[in-house]
Amino acid sequence: MGLRIDEATFLERAISRFGTRYDYSKMIYKSFRTPIKIRCVEHPVREVVITPERHLQTTGGCKYCLRNYRNQTLERVLRLDCEPSVLPVPPLARTPQEPPVAGQISKAV
Ligand SMILES: [Zn+2]
Repeated sequence: MGLRIDEATFLERAISRFGTRYDYSKMIYKSFRTPIKIRCVEHPVREVVITPERHLQTTGGCKYCLRNYRNQTLERVLRLDCEPSVLPVPPLARTPQEPPVAGQISKAV
C-alpha cells in the first residue's frame, strides 16, 4: 500500500484540521488504518474509536459533534425556509433588554 502516514504526520494533519478539538494524548498509533482511541475535548464522556484515515476524512468521529454539525446545517436550512416574523416568542421569555431609565435623560455628548 502506498499510504504510509506515521504518527507525527497524522497528528500534524489532524491538528491542522481540528485544532485542539480532539485529545490525542491517550492514542496508541499503529498505522493509518488501525483504529485509535481519542477523545473529543468538548464531549469527553465517550472516547472515539476511529481509524486515523476516517478521522481525517470525517468530522472527526465524535457523534455529538456530528449531531451538532447536522443540527446547525438543518437549522440554517429551516431558517431559509421560514419567515422571520413567524418566530414564536413565549411571553415568559420576554425579558426587557435594557433596564428602564428614569426619565429620558438626554445623552450627554
Ligand atoms: Zn464532540
